[in-house]
Amino acid sequence: MPRCQCEVYDIHVDTYRNCKNSEKFTIYINKPVKYCHRHAIIHIQKYAIIIQKHYKAYRTRNKIASLFINLPQDLQRKVLFYIRQPLYLCKVYQKISSIIYPKINIFLEDLDHEAIFFDKEASLFHYLSPDQISRFCYLLNLTFKYHSILPKDLRKEMYNITNTMHINYILCDVENTVYKNEWTCLIRHFNQLKTLKRK
Ligand SMILES: [Zn+2]
Repeated sequence: MPRCQCEVYDIHVDTYRNCKNSEKFTIYINKPVKYCHRHAIIHIQKYAIIIQKHYKAYRTRNKIASLFINLPQDLQRKVLFYIRQPLYLCKVYQKISSIIYPKINIFLEDLDHEAIFFDKEASLFHYLSPDQISRFCYLLNLTFKYHSILPKDLRKEMYNITNTMHINYILCDVENTVYKNEWTCLIRHFNQLKTLKRK
């Protein structure tokens, strides 16, 4: 069986000898040279990549010339749109996320976390001011709408607060108290969170 023609240094006998691996490729430069798989990677991989790159470019240019160039302009635009769609979507998601993220962060900073997590009061105003309630509802709308693209830690924080508020609501038996109306706007979000849990 033909062997690789590369010289290797043998550490045991302290001398150079021919590689003992069997031949995988024969490369023609000035004369045919036999290479094993390992030496082919070392000596000719970079040239193979250059040749592959040029061939891929040639094939793509051929495809563009035969399929794309002769299309009417509106169809060309459609093709380009579908090619770039993942990039467009990624940019839109980043933009939406960068708008919602600071809003939620500012809201969370102002929040009285101790009251929400440790107190059990039937009145919603014990936990949130009227302004915070409307902001909370608005941000929950956004969180549920864009839950798949928002950062995980932020979603988790909003869900935790909503869940705890719901537990407080149930424990205080708000439905049988005079504070029932204060919670009306939040009930929808409690239900939304429940449907999210089941998914
Ligand atoms: Zn070899």
